[in-house]
Amino acid sequence: MTNPTESSLSQASALTDEAPVTRQSLWPNYAPPLDLVFSHGKGSELFTEQGDAYLDFLSGIAVTSFGHAHPHLVSVLKQQAEKVWHVSNLFRIPSAERLASRLTQHCFAERVFFANSGTEAIEAGIKAVRGYQAAHGHTERSRLIGFSDSFHGRTLAALAAAGNKNHTRGFIPTDYGFDQVPWEDSSALEAAISDKTAGIILEPVQGEGGIRPASKEFMQHVKALCDEHKLVLMFDEVQCGVGRTGKLFAHQHYGITPDVMALAKGLGGGFPIGACVTTAAVGDAMVVGSHGSTFGGNPLAMAVGNGVMDLLLEPSLLDEVVDKGQHLQRRLHELVEKFPDQLASVHGKGLMVGVKCHAKNSELADRLRANKLLVGTAGGNMLRLLPPLNVSNEHLDQGVDVLEQTLAAT
Ligand SMILES: *Cc1c(COP(=O)(O)O)cnc(C)c1O
Repeated sequence: MTNPTESSLSQASALTDEAPVTRQSLWPNYAPPLDLVFSHGKGSELFTEQGDAYLDFLSGIAVTSFGHAHPHLVSVLKQQAEKVWHVSNLFRIPSAERLASRLTQHCFAERVFFANSGTEAIEAGIKAVRGYQAAHGHTERSRLIGFSDSFHGRTLAALAAAGNKNHTRGFIPTDYGFDQVPWEDSSALEAAISDKTAGIILEPVQGEGGIRPASKEFMQHVKALCDEHKLVLMFDEVQCGVGRTGKLFAHQHYGITPDVMALAKGLGGGFPIGACVTTAAVGDAMVVGSHGSTFGGNPLAMAVGNGVMDLLLEPSLLDEVVDKGQHLQRRLHELVEKFPDQLASVHGKGLMVGVKCHAKNSELADRLRANKLLVGTAGGNMLRLLPPLNVSNEHLDQGVDVLEQTLAAT
């Protein structure tokens, strides 16, 4: 039978599909709450099969940038699903060319490589930093400098770049070509630069490390050092990019540009996607055969990526992110004053917001979840709030109200 009908297919799978739904067959590397399963979502809310509504201020870790089941994103994905899913990069993909040119129109970048995740965009960027130096005759320049409390993903070079001992222990036995300096320590950075240094990698707003925006002085100092020593500057905007901070890209708050930038998370609105965007000088060093991906830039991901760009480029969107972020931070400051024993301070930019806790952050996050508000945590005992960029004012206030009631009940 070469072309089974839908009904014969579902009958056959119903007969053979007796596998139990348990976590036993998965790696134990995640620890989700066992009693909670979401069956669908709409905008800023997620629902269980039983119909319980949760307010989603985590957005799948800054991924569902326009909430759940956004009609425009559903529509572009469905339309593409009925045309073609995958052809590989052995053929042109016009929607990838279009998304690349839209990305380059709105930032420093001139060339784009598409991947499927943040860590792959980082890997591509690290290769491009080294590849650029090698293409200019500097094969000795292969080392990158990274910063403490960074997070760049879970593949080996991304782990080495961030240098977080909790993540590298047991997995990175040798020198992977990265040097670490303390976050925002300019003199340590200067001291770490050698004639083997190829580039510098940092998050303009650190995410996992604790929602820490770099200072303007530090960013400008890093840029000046890169110019002086002919280093390639690479920004990891996997979390802070794509409108999250109220600018299309977080570095645009600082009046400087990198040579390489990694994007992912919010760019697909929930569809896996990654992008490494670069200057022409860096991108053009990545000649035929130097890098590649089977899935990267596939038509489904590109359809959704273009759909996200449509929403991001709506004229008032970024202004609204700024306004909502200010409103959120204002209300959180009020809670810090009202509950000084439990909350310490408010951090972040736009709708990438951290609340430093006195009590254990994960315990507060658990209590918020019990009260049907989903939030994340981050380093520095932070509660991490990442509501969708198009969250309504009502939902924004409702989320802060849940936080207030939860704090008041303890
Ligand atoms: C999430 C994240 C990554 C890794 O992205 P994955 O898609 O999980 O590989 C890299 N850098 C930053 C800043 C991130 O927040």
